[in-house]
Amino acid sequence: MGRSSKDKRDIYYRKAKEEGWRARSAFKLMQLDEEFNLFAGVKRAVDLCAAPGSWSQVVSRKLEAIPDSRIVAVDLNEMAPIKGVIQLQGDITNHDTVERIISHFDGLKADIVISDGAPDVTGLHDMDEYLQGQLILAALNVATHILRPDGKFVAKIFRGRDISLLFAQLRVFFKDVIVAKPQSSRNSSIESFVVCQHFDLPAGYSPVMINPFESQYGYRPSDCQSPINRVLVPFLACGDLSGLDSDQSYACPEGYRHLAPTQAPINPIGAAPRPQAGESPAPAAAPVTASGNSS
Ligand code: SAM
Repeated sequence: MGRSSKDKRDIYYRKAKEEGWRARSAFKLMQLDEEFNLFAGVKRAVDLCAAPGSWSQVVSRKLEAIPDSRIVAVDLNEMAPIKGVIQLQGDITNHDTVERIISHFDGLKADIVISDGAPDVTGLHDMDEYLQGQLILAALNVATHILRPDGKFVAKIFRGRDISLLFAQLRVFFKDVIVAKPQSSRNSSIESFVVCQHFDLPAGYSPVMINPFESQYGYRPSDCQSPINRVLVPFLACGDLSGLDSDQSYACPEGYRHLAPTQAPINPIGAAPRPQAGESPAPAAAPVTASGNSS
């Protein structure tokens, strides 16, 4: 009963089973391909976060007639075999996984990297968006290691509040970045796909497996080999550098009298309510005089 109602409610779920696709996501990739002709000229492809394997099935059918084509699919979970697809079980956030992918390309680069990755949904929107963002950055890092110049990268995104930042980050590596929502992706879902074309690794950039944008701030500098990963915004120390040092302790001069802060917070969040005239102060709060001075 429950199953047939899903068949009724979700036409792509039903069609996927009828046509032999392992998941309804196959239609998303096929519709993206119809729009962007993703597989024109593609011989070597990497499918990240690939289980149960419907995207790999689509790629396998697309490349089956291409001599010496190669498809490498990766997922945390084991996948049932697919003809023409090399399957790796691994975490795409690990450098070791990148090495394993590269080892299957005989020194050649991939023409396309696709990623339909999704972390386990927590139900907390902000957290889910953040985790999805981290997964895309991991997929992008993998792509920076294995894509050929002018190659393509397609990845699932959740269009949340901070998505413009991700677009700007993708534009560092791709000349052309478009967001697409295939017909088979439900309108009620914030899911979309970035289609990034014309991969162009910035001169001097060396691929890393940490967030390449965090590394700008000197985060784990040992991971950042090239100057471009470490580009810093100008940092200026100002004030009289031979003047008072904010990290030093200075003894108070003789006769020094402690002064209260000039202005205490007027209504600090979480603090006990201030006593009104005539009320006795709440026991835990420091008494405050009308002038704002603590006694
Ligand atoms: N494209 C697939 C298909 O068409 O069958 C569906 C992918 S499914 C929506 C998302 C996948 O992302 C899951 O199989 C999950 O195991 C995988 N995943 C999530 N985090 C991952 C990670 N860090 N490394 C590898 N795979 C990951």
